[in-house]
Amino acid sequence: MKKISDSSTTKSSSQKTRYVYNFGEQTDGNASMRELLGGKGANLAEMAAIGLPVPPGFTVSTDVCTYFYAHGRSYPKTLAKDVEVAVKSVAKQMKREFGGRDNPLLVSVRSGARDSMPGMMDTILNLGLNDETVEGLASISDNPRFAWDCYRRFIQMYGDVVMGVQALNEESECPFHALLDNMKTSLGKELDNELTAEELQELVQRYKKLIADKTGKSFPQDVYEQLWGAVGAVFGSWKNDRAILYRSQYGIPAEWGTAVNIQAMVFGNAGDDSGTGVAFTRDPATGEKVFYGEYLTNAQGEDVVAGVRTPKPIAAMAKELPKNFTDLEKVRTRLEKHFKDMQDFEFTIENGRLFILQTRNGKRTGLAAIRIAVELNKEKLIDQKTALLKIPAESVDTLLVPVFDAKAQKEAKLICTGLPAGPGAATGRIAFTAAQAEIEARKGNKVILCRSETSPDDLKGMLHSQGILTTRGGVSSHAALVARQLGKVCICGAADITINYERKTLTANGITLKEGDYISINGTTGSVYQGLIESADSEVKRVLEGTMKASESYTYELFNTVMEWSDKYRKLRIRTNADTPAMAQTAVAYGAEGIGLCRTEHMFFEGSRIDDMRQMILAVDGVQRREALKKLLPMQRKDFVGLFKAMAGRPVTIRLLDPPLHEFLPQDDAVRRQLADKLGLPLEFVIDRIKALHEENPMLGCRGCRLGILYPEITEMQVQAIFEAAAELLTAKKPVEVHPEIMIPLVGFKAELADQLAIVHRIAEQVMTRKKIKFKYMVGTMVEVPRAAITADEIAEHAEFFSFGTNDLTQTTLGLSRDDMGLFYDEYQQKEIYSKNPFASLDKTGVGKLMQFAVTNGQKTRKDLKLGICGEHAGDPDSIDFCHNLGLQYVSCSPPRVPIARLAAAQAALRAAK
Ligand code: PEP
Ligand code: MG
Repeated sequence: MKKISDSSTTKSSSQKTRYVYNFGEQTDGNASMRELLGGKGANLAEMAAIGLPVPPGFTVSTDVCTYFYAHGRSYPKTLAKDVEVAVKSVAKQMKREFGGRDNPLLVSVRSGARDSMPGMMDTILNLGLNDETVEGLASISDNPRFAWDCYRRFIQMYGDVVMGVQALNEESECPFHALLDNMKTSLGKELDNELTAEELQELVQRYKKLIADKTGKSFPQDVYEQLWGAVGAVFGSWKNDRAILYRSQYGIPAEWGTAVNIQAMVFGNAGDDSGTGVAFTRDPATGEKVFYGEYLTNAQGEDVVAGVRTPKPIAAMAKELPKNFTDLEKVRTRLEKHFKDMQDFEFTIENGRLFILQTRNGKRTGLAAIRIAVELNKEKLIDQKTALLKIPAESVDTLLVPVFDAKAQKEAKLICTGLPAGPGAATGRIAFTAAQAEIEARKGNKVILCRSETSPDDLKGMLHSQGILTTRGGVSSHAALVARQLGKVCICGAADITINYERKTLTANGITLKEGDYISINGTTGSVYQGLIESADSEVKRVLEGTMKASESYTYELFNTVMEWSDKYRKLRIRTNADTPAMAQTAVAYGAEGIGLCRTEHMFFEGSRIDDMRQMILAVDGVQRREALKKLLPMQRKDFVGLFKAMAGRPVTIRLLDPPLHEFLPQDDAVRRQLADKLGLPLEFVIDRIKALHEENPMLGCRGCRLGILYPEITEMQVQAIFEAAAELLTAKKPVEVHPEIMIPLVGFKAELADQLAIVHRIAEQVMTRKKIKFKYMVGTMVEVPRAAITADEIAEHAEFFSFGTNDLTQTTLGLSRDDMGLFYDEYQQKEIYSKNPFASLDKTGVGKLMQFAVTNGQKTRKDLKLGICGEHAGDPDSIDFCHNLGLQYVSCSPPRVPIARLAAAQAALRAAK
């Protein structure tokens, strides 16, 4: 038995600290005591308190765990007595005796942390068996085989968990299993349950010898010694490697500790009127309100889980064990009404008597999360706010994206995984070039564009593809950014794949696929599969696009309900990042309230425009540049007219040109030649210009406002196009309201902003005079380099708004290229250097601090400074929560993420109000 410490408890003896909480005839705890009793203990107490048939037991509190680690793995001095009293009470309720020779009480000893940590800590079952009590169990069960099987299982579990008799390493076999296998082989038997009572008795002797040989100690026969050994092992398992890793993964503090639950064993393998099972109060896959689960007669819980026998669907119980089924139905209703959520519970029937062993909020798919929350509200079990908080915001995505058939995906061959960059499922023929993608698409085939990385040259191919797969680049690489904005499925940085463009093959983990072969990608999980997996548009998308009636889709009704509730409670406005009228329309259908970022450079990716853009970039002087810009002006004006129209009076933030120049210039010899021909320029000139414009690090080069400062005529053309478009719509026969907001990119010095501001105001005056109309507009800046954040007070002298460009702000704050995450990301995540990808979810303690600083100091200069965010983080629920608390007015994300952002913003507001 463990030494009982003499150190005093935290309270004086007159106000003795309570460490043991009973459940059963007398129940001391309840569901609200998770901190002290752990989730399992608290729910067991709650179930016992409301009269559900829970086998009696007690919980040793998490305080003891804290004490255990603070006092050299010893216990408070009052604990032994309290445990003994509690054990006696359990024995009395079960009409059995702990260690009793004739009528033995057996118990389970299980962990139970505040948040469930499934499978991470230790469990001991059938405790209380020894050489004498096993005979008692044999006679009361009238089943010696069962009794000896329980005993050998107990010795095996105890020998492993408490006495440390384990396999030497991961490759070698568990020594208990080795003995069991030897015995079966020598007897010519295949299955464990073919062993007779006598054979199991012999196995028990061999197990005990194994323990003695390995530890020099005999297997304890004293049941209290067994109990303290098990309790110590369960507390000790709070600090095993698995538990530590799990905690760090899910942010569970080590100080919480675990409770230990000691509960009377009941046996589902006591005969044909016994059984065991797992049930869900609703279908966890679809959320439908049907009784869901499975069971086995004459079996123990582990038989259901281990798949030794195939369990039967719960509905079959209505015939086989009708009385128990009626009772179980009542328990199902009771549990849901009481816990106000879908429950996942375990039950055992011992000789016709039903027991509930555990209940917890069931894990569920995204669709189920939404359906259950909405329906629980309809059933008046929870209010709207509670319902919203029960839905993981990302779940909304599952209603929007095309989906793979679940069964087909399971059967498909997984090739490798990459970074999930554009959610959804896409399947199609492999194309290694944008041109090939277009050819396939024109033939009516579905295509997956597979590239090492993408560039603006690939846009057309991307548009023609169902999905995009790249072997390099992170979640804010060109491919990811464009794919998400277009609502395309995308996986980036699938580093296991090698593409051979010459041979037109793709190889990963020994599998080689050719151009034209089918490949399937799941952009939600990052999994890449060989072959074709069928997928279809979501119902919600079809309703929003008008190809399906709202009244025909229950999924749409669910979606719409959640969106309406979200809009009621959120404070943040939701804008979108859109560059074309079509994207803007989709975003508005999804609920966008404005455009927070129009990347004007994306407007030049399409068709022949890219060549005009290239002509402008290649120009050697202002004269040539103005010539090229003249061609671009009408195109830009038309774009802005379209965009303003699509947004129908909602604010539109247009960012002036911010291209890393390398994205526009052809790297390919053939394309360079074509360009030279088209522009009527000598090839050598084109090559020389491209060389002259070469930058070692274009991401940190002549980008953003630097371009507009160097070539003011570009800024002039762009603002002229914006203001002329505004004037055209305001003076149209049917005037359209417009609210342009001009945004200057990559500003670090207030003088940069002042320089560009002067141009904007000058051109605005000119257009107003020329068009004889007055219009309002705002001018602001992106905050995307640390210097802008640090000098926010100065920058705000000129900026009417700040929009946090957290893609670049993360890149520049971390000194980490946003396109080169693939190489070391896995390693960094495994070593927990990054808990999340900082380009997908805000680095709150680093980048977030800069944002906070910028908000505080910007507002000192300009009280009514408008604040938003338009980096990729604006679509990430956790980052949205941060932005709400930061006091931003809006988040601007890609169109498909608008609904997620609406829900996440509501949840942030509800959490903050709590
Ligand atoms: C940003 O840097 O966060 C941003 C939105 O701009 P871009 O991604 O176009 O650089
Ligand atoms: Mg940027």
